[in-house]
Amino acid sequence: MNQLKRLKIIIQGAVQGVGFRPFIYRLATELNVKGWVNNSASGVFIEVEGTEIILETFLSRIPQEKPPIAQINTLETTWLDPVNYTCFEIRHSSSGEKTAIVLPDLSTCSDCLQEIFDPNNRRYLYPFTNCTNCGPRYSIIEELPYDRSHTAMKTFTMCKWCQKEYDNPLDRRFHAQPNACPICGPRVQLWDKKGEILANQKNAIYFSIDALKKGEILALKGLGGFQLIVDAKNTESVTKLRQRKHRPHKPFALMYASLEAIKNDCEVNDLEEQLLISPQAPIVLLKSQNKHHLIPEIAPNNPYLGVMLPSTPLHHLLLHTLDFPIVATSGNLAGEPICIDEKEALNRLANIADLFLVHNRPILRPVDDSVVRVMGGREIIIRRARGYAPFPISINDSSLTNILAVGGHLKNTVAILKKNQVFISQHIGDLSTVEALKSFNQVMESLNKLYEFEPEIIVCDAHPDYVSSQYAKAQNLPIITVQHHYAHVLSCLANNNLNPPVLGVAWDGTGYGDDQTIWGGEFLLVKDNTPSLMKGFYERIAYFRTFKLPGGEKAVKDPRRIAISILSEVLGDNDWIKLPFLETMTTKELNLLKQMLSRNLNTPSTSSVGRLFDGVAAMIGICQNISFEGQGAMALEYAINEFKTEQTYPYKIKGSTYPLIIDWQLIIEHIVEDIIKKISHQEIAAKFHNTLVEIIVNIAQKSHEKNILLTGGCFQNKYLTERAIFRLKQEKFIPFLHHNVPPNDGGIALGQIMAAILQKQ
Ligand code: ZN
Ligand code: ZN
Ligand code: FE
Repeated sequence: MNQLKRLKIIIQGAVQGVGFRPFIYRLATELNVKGWVNNSASGVFIEVEGTEIILETFLSRIPQEKPPIAQINTLETTWLDPVNYTCFEIRHSSSGEKTAIVLPDLSTCSDCLQEIFDPNNRRYLYPFTNCTNCGPRYSIIEELPYDRSHTAMKTFTMCKWCQKEYDNPLDRRFHAQPNACPICGPRVQLWDKKGEILANQKNAIYFSIDALKKGEILALKGLGGFQLIVDAKNTESVTKLRQRKHRPHKPFALMYASLEAIKNDCEVNDLEEQLLISPQAPIVLLKSQNKHHLIPEIAPNNPYLGVMLPSTPLHHLLLHTLDFPIVATSGNLAGEPICIDEKEALNRLANIADLFLVHNRPILRPVDDSVVRVMGGREIIIRRARGYAPFPISINDSSLTNILAVGGHLKNTVAILKKNQVFISQHIGDLSTVEALKSFNQVMESLNKLYEFEPEIIVCDAHPDYVSSQYAKAQNLPIITVQHHYAHVLSCLANNNLNPPVLGVAWDGTGYGDDQTIWGGEFLLVKDNTPSLMKGFYERIAYFRTFKLPGGEKAVKDPRRIAISILSEVLGDNDWIKLPFLETMTTKELNLLKQMLSRNLNTPSTSSVGRLFDGVAAMIGICQNISFEGQGAMALEYAINEFKTEQTYPYKIKGSTYPLIIDWQLIIEHIVEDIIKKISHQEIAAKFHNTLVEIIVNIAQKSHEKNILLTGGCFQNKYLTERAIFRLKQEKFIPFLHHNVPPNDGGIALGQIMAAILQKQ
């Protein structure tokens, strides 16, 4: 029993840059076992010698006492003969195959926060304070293993005090790679529009605070990119920011100094509170309180606010003395990716910002603020970036590896499969601009470099015109194209670790269909791996009756066109002509549209539920011009405004064999009647949502499947989603939602990877 043994342990998971090695060192010292620990690119390696009992204790205490943010995925052990180690040491990192998990950037911990507000601490008011429990990771890492020489901190040589902390296994900053202090670390500067230095260090922060108080727009080099910041209570300044950013309606995110301040303006439940104060510190969509003191320009016609707490010391320092929340929106022009470099910022943000608060720690990759919304009692990530990316999604065993999926077009993300882990990139954005395309290429390169990844198969959307698809085709690799809504369904499947068979309800704005029309109101039955189905592995068992989009893209931007298209199809020429929403349109415009429709000029057909939402929103007069995707659906959701009704509109399901057609004609006829009867928007919107939910239940019943997956951008709608869950459960179905991968096109890349796996199995 007292015989010496040697135990070798290999741990994989989120175990680097989280204080794992010092934790092992402390445990080994406490139990008086000898040996070593090191970091390799594929995980943490430990060898310990002692008696069997002591070693068993050592082993069992690892998962119990690990650092709070560490996550152990696998722990392998091997018993060996002793080699008589004389001490326990932390050895240098070794290289190896790169599958170790890179941690996301984490918000400032309470210990660090205390230090920056302690006048006696050497890090008093220092904006780059961090430790192994908090601070930057993904935004500063160049390559694995995660060591200082592989990060954006490599050019900053630690002073002797920082080095002492870094070398001391009992210190919170032991091997904290971004460790820094006012003497040796990065510094802030305040610049004017020309890049002339106005102030340094603490003065730069004080001057910035003054500028914010005066209503000026500050471009702030944050953690993963530039943010544009302004006093959220100053109407003039917020309006100015909207004009300069070319962003007329899309809600701005807010940052508050404290949870208490948020609770003054918003309703916050327990889960929402946990999310706000979590190390991920995302933007949480919160219902604003009626008594809130904010100006409507923050989020026009929107009862929800996107709210976050400061996530870096710099943000804490800025907000600490302000008695107002700030708008903190991405530093870009509408539609472009976030800007990460200060020289580039001077150029790109020159017409937006008055001042630039910058620093000299390079940002190696853009990472936006993440967005989450609580629905059905759990959080759903709407935009997955800071705090979450690049944490992988583990999938059921796959015989394949080295697959690259390039995602969709809007809200693009890319993903790679290595072994049974999918690493999804941070949110890149809409690939419509040159800047976005550049960012797409950079993210791809950086993923390849970080994980030493060489794709063997490439997967893309079936849309031939998506730039992501064109990129895929240019790579000269075996290629798999995946239908957009099938990818949505598989994304939800993977996110819930399910296996087919399932019924996927994939509702969104747009996606290229197998029949070359635009899909978006789809019920896809995914069976076991039976390629006997019509198109590979799924069958489109039902979809919405199609309607025309007069002018294509133009109808997306002006949903009155959709309303007119639907109305003239249902009611011919007359009954609807006096609807109030038409007052905003000239007779000439109207006649032109009618001509387009009757002659089928540039009027693509779609089965999209997202567009149906837009059309109905326009019809009842709450949405005329759209400046961002999903605005119509949002307006209709918010129109309900707590109205309670169980009523629905009648609808028809046509056909006796698959695919069934969901005919919305009766819905539209009754909506028009309600408008004429001056029924409130609230009631019409609620009845419309209720009807869509009954359609889901109805098709679920016809499909005879139990597991119902709700996916696509439409399921960011809280009323629709929560009511669908409620009704499906009532009818004994099991509904599944997305969780840590977005239901919108940000989840497409994961679905594409799954499609490739299912196809090759
Ligand atoms: Zn810390
Ligand atoms: Zn230092
Ligand atoms: Fe989509």
